[in-house]
Amino acid sequence: MINDYAIVWRAGKDRNQEKHKKLPSDGSSDLDFPFIRFEEIALATHNFSETCMIGHGGFGKVYKGTVGGQEIAVKRLSRDSQQGTNEFRNEVILIAKLQHKNLVRLLGCCDKGDEKLLIYEYLPNKSLDATLFDDSRKHLLDWGTRLNIIKGIARGLLYLHEDSRLTIIHRDLKAGNVLLDAEMKPKIADFGMARIFGDNQENANTQRVVGTFGYMAPEYAMHGIISIKSDIYSFGVLLLEIVTGMKRSSTSHAMGFPSLIIYSWNMWKDGKAAELADSSIIDTCLLDEVLLCIHVALLCVQENPKDRPHMSSVVFTLENGSTTLPTPSRPAYFVGQSTELEQLRNNIQNSVNTLTLTGIEGR
Ligand code: ATP
Repeated sequence: MINDYAIVWRAGKDRNQEKHKKLPSDGSSDLDFPFIRFEEIALATHNFSETCMIGHGGFGKVYKGTVGGQEIAVKRLSRDSQQGTNEFRNEVILIAKLQHKNLVRLLGCCDKGDEKLLIYEYLPNKSLDATLFDDSRKHLLDWGTRLNIIKGIARGLLYLHEDSRLTIIHRDLKAGNVLLDAEMKPKIADFGMARIFGDNQENANTQRVVGTFGYMAPEYAMHGIISIKSDIYSFGVLLLEIVTGMKRSSTSHAMGFPSLIIYSWNMWKDGKAAELADSSIIDTCLLDEVLLCIHVALLCVQENPKDRPHMSSVVFTLENGSTTLPTPSRPAYFVGQSTELEQLRNNIQNSVNTLTLTGIEGR
């Protein structure tokens, strides 16, 4: 990562003596990280002009820029965001330690006064949801491409959970946090909410439930219990979205079910899982692969976290296929269970100052 940075910003190296200063840390990390001068990024983005703006998220605005011929994406933290400051620090400390082809690459950051910037490699095909849920664009994602995206996300998540030096729970895996490169290869983004687990730590409790409704495992949304299995649940939801081309909370009358998980589970139980495939992949898909993905997804969204598979077996199954997968048990969901819904609402009410729910949609 630092080498990449050195290539991109070599021209500015001598001008900036402060470039490798220490990031203010929470005490858990003492990180030497490439800092980039604010002026360089202002220049690269035409002073953060509207024409360079390519997105807007919870963190702030995102701009496209060019430095030394290389395209970059710049996230500029909104000035009044205290929560964003913590996420900024978290993202820098965490992602600087991670390197994997299926994780978005952070090239550097800038922390000058009120200005906090994160500089990433630019991914021209934007986030997965922008194509997957757009009727005029979803044909770009034929089955082969979708399967590669699924496998890439799975490998990225496996790295986070099991293969890096740390155990990392992403906590906000969703179609909006998967970016696509020029070849439609996926990269997991947005580590602002991620948590690091120590050796042998299996789960943790948090008062601060962050994530996106519909992707959140029930034990996490309702009781704040985080584990790698809460990420697995989100992965299962995402997998269903990729195969069906439907949003997790779709309330389409045609389906007649209140959520994609419930719909998929019912179709599976009735032996009609093949009908779940997005109509725009029918001509390009292999039925066995589609059914395998749906099977894996339903294993991932099971109610009991212990029943959900680890990422290593998910990756193995997706790569090799399997005839010996367990039968999924009933998935977890809230709709129709009034006490659980009530509890979820109370949770949200009680933590109004600390809760971050993005992309809340009606169910
Ligand atoms: P939230 O912050 O609520 O989770 P989000 O994930 O959409 O929402 P951001 O991560 O700030 O918010 O990104 C906003 C948009 O900017 C993305 O949807 C994407 O279109 C664009 N974007 C972000 N990072 C990059 C990148 N590295 N390359 C290209 N586009 C990007």
